Amino acid sequence: MKKVLVTGVTGRTGSIVFSKLRQYQGEFQVMGLARFPDKVQKLFNSTDGFFFGDLLKPDTLRPAFVDCQALVILTSATPRLKNPSQQGVRPEMEFPPGEMPEQIDYYGQKHQIDAAKDAGVEHIVLVGSMGGTNPAHFLNTIGNGNILIWKRKAEEYLIHSGIDYTIIRAGGLIDESGGKRELLVGKDDVLLNNPPDEIKPVITRADLAEAVVQALQHQTARNKAFDLISKPENHPGSVVTKDFATLFAQTTSG
Ligand code: NAP
Repeated sequence: MKKVLVTGVTGRTGSIVFSKLRQYQGEFQVMGLARFPDKVQKLFNSTDGFFFGDLLKPDTLRPAFVDCQALVILTSATPRLKNPSQQGVRPEMEFPPGEMPEQIDYYGQKHQIDAAKDAGVEHIVLVGSMGGTNPAHFLNTIGNGNILIWKRKAEEYLIHSGIDYTIIRAGGLIDESGGKRELLVGKDDVLLNNPPDEIKPVITRADLAEAVVQALQHQTARNKAFDLISKPENHPGSVVTKDFATLFAQTTSG
């Protein structure tokens, strides 16, 4: 049985990945890493199978990695509203103090990759974001965080770590049900800048979570980095993606 650790497990995608992996009893032993026990208790009705630690305190992470064969990284800096919203005033966003993308998305991910390497983890699935080829992307302006730039630096660190990797650069995330759309893989933000049929470059968190779970199972996902979006549900001519081995085979490294 493969022991897998999921970080960012209290997040909107991490929680779906964790729940999906728990359904593969006999194939995966899944553990979660989170900051706050009360949040875990509320989400999963139990704290069994969870470790508690902070990405910014590497020593608190290490116990979670013991005997793990695979790691799923779903942590992220998350901006919040700076001021209460007012009519006619554009809302401003900021990152909480000490939780800028440099800290969370670069050092926080680096600390996880280092802990994984020390523990002998064989495979890391990292969820990142599309848009990283454009330093002027609007996401980089949020809270002066340069979030896509720091996420890319962490990806580079993973690629050079020597551990097998799967880097999934997701399009905009939406909270609709999964398993109903054709997924599309791409490279270098082509799907963002020139999506086929001018579709929106988005994907449901449920479909992204399924891609993560499938990446843990298929050799064709190893040492690959790719963009991921989906066609809209019932899009003319689309075929709902079921064969992930073939989907991953269309992707390349780096
Ligand atoms: P999310 O809900 O914002 O979850 C982020 C997770 O990171 C939470 O579990 C959070 O824990 C954890 N975290 C943050 N700081 C931490 C720390 N110091 N120590 C431990 N854990 C920490 O994530 P999401 O919206 O599902 O996004 C998943 C991934 O997709 C992210 O990498 C995101 O950038 C990427 N993405 C998002 C979009 C989009 O449209 N939003 C588009 C493309 C890609 P707490 O619960 O304790 O805060």
